[in-house]
Order: sequence, then C-alpha cells, then structure tokens
Amino acid sequence: MLVITNISALYGVTPHHKLSGQDMAQNPVINNAYIVIEGGNIASFGEMSAIGKIPPDAPIIDAQGKVVLPSFCDSHTHIIYPTTRETEFIDRVKGLTYEEIAKRGGGILNSADVLANTSEDELYKSAYQRIIGVMKTGTGALEIKSGYGLSVDMEMKMLRVARRLQQDLPVTIRTTLLGAHAVGREYAGRQGDYVNMICEQMIPAVAAEGLADFVDVFCDKGFFTTQETEKILEAAAKYALPGKIHANELAVSGGVQVGVKNGALSVDHLEQMDQEAINALKNTTTMPTALPGASFFLGIPFSPVRKMINEGLPVAIASDYNPGSSPCGNMQFMMALGVIRAKLLPVEALTAATLNSAYAMGLGATHGSIAVGKRANLSILKSGATLDLIPYSYGENHIEKIILGGVVIN
Ligand SMILES: [Zn+2]
Repeated sequence: MLVITNISALYGVTPHHKLSGQDMAQNPVINNAYIVIEGGNIASFGEMSAIGKIPPDAPIIDAQGKVVLPSFCDSHTHIIYPTTRETEFIDRVKGLTYEEIAKRGGGILNSADVLANTSEDELYKSAYQRIIGVMKTGTGALEIKSGYGLSVDMEMKMLRVARRLQQDLPVTIRTTLLGAHAVGREYAGRQGDYVNMICEQMIPAVAAEGLADFVDVFCDKGFFTTQETEKILEAAAKYALPGKIHANELAVSGGVQVGVKNGALSVDHLEQMDQEAINALKNTTTMPTALPGASFFLGIPFSPVRKMINEGLPVAIASDYNPGSSPCGNMQFMMALGVIRAKLLPVEALTAATLNSAYAMGLGATHGSIAVGKRANLSILKSGATLDLIPYSYGENHIEKIILGGVVIN
C-alpha cells in the first residue's frame, strides 16, 4: 500500500478510455486530494476530507502544494535503434538534399545496415538507457516499433529486444511490427514482392512467436500505397493484430481512410489533413495521433489538431522518438508543442498525452487516467509547478517524483 495525501490538484480523474472533442478540455481535476494505491493499482482517491482510515504502518507521501498527473503514455516511438544520426542532422542544417544525405549514410536504409551489424544486447542496452531517460520526464507507458530491420530475421531481432525491455522495466510497453517502414535493400525495385513477403512470411513468423501487439505501415507518398497498406492490414487481421498507421505526413495520401476502413487503432502523423480525412475519422474507433516533435524537428506543418478537436474528434499526442526525424522522447516537450504550435489548451494536451495516447496503444482501460483499478502510474510535480507551467516553461523537467505500478522510482 502507498498513500499520497494533500495533493493540491489531481488531474485526469476519469474512468473513460478516451475523451473526444470538447470533452478533452473537461478532463476532471480534484483539488486537495488523496490517492490510495494497492497491488500496483489505484484503490481509491478523492478529496482529503473523504479519506478513510489509513493503516498506521502504511507509507505516506505528503504532496502538500504539489500537482499529480497520470503518467504520460507515448503511443508512437522508434526507441530501439542502433545509432544516433547527428551527422545527418548537421548535413540537413547545412542544406544537403535527402539524396545527398542518404549517400553519406543517412536515412532508414542506412539505419537498417547498421542494425544488421548490431547485436541484440547492444540494441537492448542503448534502448534501455533511452527508456530510463523518458521515464524521468514522466512517461509510464510506451509503444515501440520495429522498422530498422526490413527482413524477417532483423525485424524479429528488434521485437525480441522490445519484449525483453518490457519484461525488465517498470514502464508498460506495447510492441509494433513495422516491416513496411521502407523497402528492404534485398527487394530494391521490387516493392510488390516485399509487401508479399511481409504478408506471407514476416507477419506469420512474428505472430507465431507473439512478438508484436500491432502492425504498422508507412502509408504515404513515396512509401507504401493505400492498396499495399490494406493488403498488409488484412494479413495482420488474420492474426488479430490491429493496425497503427503512419499516414498523411508528406501528402493527403488516403492513409487515414484505409486505416479507418480496416479498423486501425490509430492513424499517426496527420500533418496533411483535408476535410475528407477529418470526416473519415468521425464516429470511428481509430485514434488520430499527432507527432509534434517530428513537425518541430523537420520544420514541416503541425497537424491541425485544434480543428480536429473543434470538429469533435479525439486527438492523441506521441513523441515519434526516432533518430531521423524526432530524436526526443520528452512528453512534457510534446505537450508544450501541442499548446504553443497547435493551440491546444494545456488540459487538452494532457488528455492527448495521457488518456487518448493510452487508448492509441490499446491501454485505455488500464492506463492514462486516475480511476479505481487503473495502474498507479503517476507523476508528482515539483513544488509550485502547475499544469500550465509545463508548456509555458518548456524545456524543463517539472517532475519531482515518479510512481510506476505503485512503486516510487526516484
Ligand atoms: Zn514514426
């Protein structure tokens, strides 16, 4: 048992699995609150005046003057990768083209080359350190994609690393097969054959070992077509693996519609949205997910999440933590970008980065908000820090104490 008392404001108090439209700003708060944690889950909570009898030996954290938030849920990351790519970043700053950068060793295919020569243990160790880093900035659950393998063996190697991390770390981890991130080198010029190989070999092999919870496709201009995406989602559905799609980053690609049609759990990126794509998401179970870190780092448009929420949609925010287009997994910063650049209210950005992003990785019933029975993943902010201070005073870590599964981590 663990009891937190005198919480000045307890945010995210909702039993729902997601919040849409104007409800995102109504995510309830309790002032002067307590929480009781038992067996790793939230057992009870409420106003201090209603706190029941606490056993005399129960550990208590006095959160006098401090705000408590549900831990962030980061529903889109590529946190397992062999090396950082800052050389390529500086080349981009200097104005080199994508082709020139690829020639000098940048891009997804070059990451795949390096990954093939990196051991499972090395991948595990570097990803482990990155996850410790994002835990410190408040992430309590994250999704990890493969996608730097691009062959059956190498994609499975990445997913095995993800499953090991899931076993060893107190954060909740969900895994996604992203064989369709780019066409593997062996299949250069034969994209159709590569897609068939994903459907007929890669997905069955990954499913047989239970290595993935979801299947993802980079459905965009210059990557995979809507027809190829549908084929892969249909193959995944045979193994009860829902889709999570990279869609509409580079163009209005039809990726949103093909995701919705095939029951994808989320469609992610959405920098390029027309009214048809927005309409396609209405009254569906697919979570639109913005990745503001990629927009910031690449200098591309931000997803029009303000308009999407105004039209009644739910929206999730995730980091897209990856070495090429978003080398940062700090969800406080992602919230700040949502507020500063996409005009969300801080409470909407919080809903997007906790409850709705939990939903976007199939964890809406157990994570992302304060509710009896949900996992006790909580962040206690530093004294005096408010929810509004997170986007305002961006770039700082406002979290003092992290609790994951009811255990104090720091
Ligand atoms: Zn991504």
